[in-house]
Amino acid sequence: MSEQEGTPLSQWATVQVEAGSWVRRMFAEGQRLRALHGDDAVCDLALGQPLGEPSPAVRKALQRAAAERGGPERFGYMPNLGYPEVRERAARDVNFPGVTRDCVAMTGGAGAAVSLALRTFVDAGDDVIGIVPYFGEYRAYCAAVGARFVPVESHDDMSLDLEALQAALSIHTTAVILNTPNNPSGHVVDEDEMRGLASLLDAHRASTGRRVVLIVDAVYQRLVYPPAHHLNAMDYYDATVLARSFSKDLGLAGERIGYLALHPELCDAQVRRGLELCQRALGFVNAPATMQRMLLHLDSWEVDIDPFLDRRDHALRCAREAGLEVDAPQGGLYLWIRSPWNDGLAFTQALAEKLVLVAPGIAFGMPDRFRVCFTARRDALEAAMSRIAEVGAVELTA
Ligand code: PLP
Repeated sequence: MSEQEGTPLSQWATVQVEAGSWVRRMFAEGQRLRALHGDDAVCDLALGQPLGEPSPAVRKALQRAAAERGGPERFGYMPNLGYPEVRERAARDVNFPGVTRDCVAMTGGAGAAVSLALRTFVDAGDDVIGIVPYFGEYRAYCAAVGARFVPVESHDDMSLDLEALQAALSIHTTAVILNTPNNPSGHVVDEDEMRGLASLLDAHRASTGRRVVLIVDAVYQRLVYPPAHHLNAMDYYDATVLARSFSKDLGLAGERIGYLALHPELCDAQVRRGLELCQRALGFVNAPATMQRMLLHLDSWEVDIDPFLDRRDHALRCAREAGLEVDAPQGGLYLWIRSPWNDGLAFTQALAEKLVLVAPGIAFGMPDRFRVCFTARRDALEAAMSRIAEVGAVELTA
């Protein structure tokens, strides 16, 4: 229990709340500001909300899933890793030789998949390497299993710094979390980076006997903008675990569905039993039944990239016209913009006073940037960019 009198909050939770998610804080701030000023007055670009509503095909599949009958298992408990036929479909989606439904666990989104992977493969006191800029929740996921999160800087262009990664690997390292396409930078790891990372991990294993698990957070796997293309890390490294989600590409973030897939080399009977146990130990039990059935009724899991690309290009144009320094993201839903002020956090706070909410770079380990989610309405993006430019100009002339 926390030492602070009168609260039953654990010390662990107290520390996590204090270190807590800036993105979620901004979300709460957005709700407060909307209640005060009305929905239309606030430009909320902080949280990674999906682009619009689920498609008609997704809605139809959901309706079919909800109407379906099928005995006690349909709405009751099921195998912890999910319905076998849905896992079969997910295994086909992974599209890697030897990945069968036995290698798949259906999860409540990628957050649950990464947490399940950490619980299954990482012990308290181990090191887990993450790559800067990183999805801020990784810190909490690692803290939840008692692991130390070790952030490793990237190159200026956001590509992997293999030398820095090599220097960070130690006998305490049990996992590396690789997020590609990256939230927030939009960087998509290319062939050279993937090969380089895999050979580092192979060399580490050869010299220390430690087999580091590569957890690939592929939430934005289907949101990659040509000419970039997504690579399957399983083609490069055997101890790979994929974390996938339908939150963003199918527009279902609140419904919680995704999956974890193991490379066949990792997928022995003991690991599978471990996954099942951890699914229960974390209290997830299984991924939501109706969402699993919905996936089964959906003819294709592919998405039309054009509306995302269109919104990305619009946001990019607005940001550049506003004089902001930003590269075109290769994937994902965000612009990763250099803060016009040296103090990036102060800048995002000043923006909030102008009713523009963005995620401060400090949440991702890079305080000199901020993140804008470009799924907001086009007019909100336009209004936000010009207010960002106005606030940015203030300190420069002050
Ligand atoms: N990982 C990354 C990199 C994300 O950006 C997000 C959500 O924004 C998640 C995981 C969590 O996704 P899900 O809704 O699938 O749990």
